[in-house]
Amino acid sequence: MKRYQKMSQLYAPTLKEDPAEAELSSHRLLLRAGMIRKTAAGLYSYLPLAWRSIRKIEAVIRDEMEAIGAQEMMVPILTPSELWHESGRWDAYGPELMRIADRHGREFALGPTHEETFTDLVRNELRSYKQLPCTLYQIQDKFRDEMRPRFGLMRGREFIMKDAYSFSATQESLQECYDQQKDAYARIAERCGLYALPVVADSGQIGGDTSVEFMALADSGEAELVWCDCGFAADVEAAATKVPVSEGPGNGELEKVHTPGLGAIEDVAAFFGFPENGTRKSLALVAEDGSRVVAIVPGDHELNEIKASKLFGAYHLMTDEELEEAGLHKGFIGPVGLPEGVRLVCDESLRESTSWTCGANEVDYHYTGARPGRDFTVDEWADLVSVHEGDPCPRCGAPLKSARGIEVSQVFQLGTKYSEAMGATFADEDGVERPFLMGCYGIGVSRTLAAVVEQHNDEHGISWPVCVAPYEVEVVPLAVGDDVVAPVAEGVVSELCAADLEVLLDDRRERPGVKFADADLIGIPYQVILGKRGVAAGVAEVKVRETGERVDVPLGELAAWLAERVVPARA
Ligand code: ATP
Ligand code: MG
Repeated sequence: MKRYQKMSQLYAPTLKEDPAEAELSSHRLLLRAGMIRKTAAGLYSYLPLAWRSIRKIEAVIRDEMEAIGAQEMMVPILTPSELWHESGRWDAYGPELMRIADRHGREFALGPTHEETFTDLVRNELRSYKQLPCTLYQIQDKFRDEMRPRFGLMRGREFIMKDAYSFSATQESLQECYDQQKDAYARIAERCGLYALPVVADSGQIGGDTSVEFMALADSGEAELVWCDCGFAADVEAAATKVPVSEGPGNGELEKVHTPGLGAIEDVAAFFGFPENGTRKSLALVAEDGSRVVAIVPGDHELNEIKASKLFGAYHLMTDEELEEAGLHKGFIGPVGLPEGVRLVCDESLRESTSWTCGANEVDYHYTGARPGRDFTVDEWADLVSVHEGDPCPRCGAPLKSARGIEVSQVFQLGTKYSEAMGATFADEDGVERPFLMGCYGIGVSRTLAAVVEQHNDEHGISWPVCVAPYEVEVVPLAVGDDVVAPVAEGVVSELCAADLEVLLDDRRERPGVKFADADLIGIPYQVILGKRGVAAGVAEVKVRETGERVDVPLGELAAWLAERVVPARA
């Protein structure tokens, strides 16, 4: 038997107008539906409706963690600076780490993540290989002084995270813990109603070598992705694929062609009557160490900044003066006859191509039929380009699709990074002390809530999936205080509660239009509308929020009808 909530008493101050500061649907709708309020930049209060959804997300997490034997616990939010000094992150973390001092001048950080605290916790008391593997986790507020807190719950300065840490004796065991967490994370996203893809990621600030991010697909996502039905998904920055390239015009012999004023790729391609892909794009840049580089990519692709900076450090494209100094001509740069001291780095996709159309390093001239090895020497082949929609999937070859994503969670293999730095060891079977092999696993709980709204809304408001909806059914009597409708509504509510459904009752003395608008805005999955005429005929009109479908259900069957749909859809 569930209790129900009266809307007249519910603390959910809805807004008629769109709040000006909200750019994202989720931010706008969570504010408008009276679910969150801003306390300060990047700091939000979760009002009762949002909190119910948060609790449901947490319940899914707890269930999945229990299923794989991870143990819930709690460590302090305040983390002593000594631990951060041990790991080397007091300095490395930078201004994102929120630091405070106590009355004695001792320094602490508000935990942005807790590798140090957990490693410190186990280092003296998890002693033997017999106790391993061991995975501990907590669900707790985290603090990061983000440079640009924004988008409401998406990027806060205080946010809710589930963070887990695994301690293993061997790499195999770490791999197993990691795989279990990864699989659990996929299920958690799904059970929370998210469509999310696992994306192989760089390991970033926390470190480690193997890592996957779960990306909830949404047009507003910060990450740019390519993905494929075969299951491949990657950040555009990280995706490595060979782009198909066509050979340029000509018979394979090196030929210099007069191309007056044709410095742009599209003009060159048009001049030769070839797709842009059959030309080669040359970029002159200065690497961090001051050396000069010409980087060449297929004509229809761009040099990827992240990949380039991995190779060249903090590089920049040459200015007009630098080009002149280097003896290069804007629009006519190419691999043949490069000036002394310029390093030639070419994209992997071009390795097998034998007939390049490219600048001739002479104003108003291009070459066709330029061949690596014969006409010029490539100093280095490297993965340089940003992958596009339509490029072949590196796994199966099908054309890649593009999408944007919200990172909702991430799993890392840390290896011995923290255990070595902090001297966290266990005794192996031979009594030899070895550092733990660690993994860490984070879910943005509050970000997940925002991502769910981002994926489940329309022009009228939120449309919660049952699994994380604040309530499952909203009962909307249209004439409160009416002698006929009011007692029927009371009866319906108690039957639904008896059927174990979570019910919100709109008992406010408001016009039907106001109630309908609020119901659509708050987005409870099923609306039970009780009007005079329906009630007289013994039926309720049920509106399915997600589809807009309306069904007349006899009052006597209502509880069963709803339970049949709601219960299987619970997480
Ligand atoms: P981002 O790249 O978005 O800054 P991150 O990779 O730094 O995130 P992690 O250290 O992997 O974040 O933290 C685990 C999870 O915590 C993330 O996957 C994300 O869901 C969530 N998270 C991280 N930063 C924030 C934030 N500022 N506000 C809300 N959730 C966050
Ligand atoms: Mg991350």
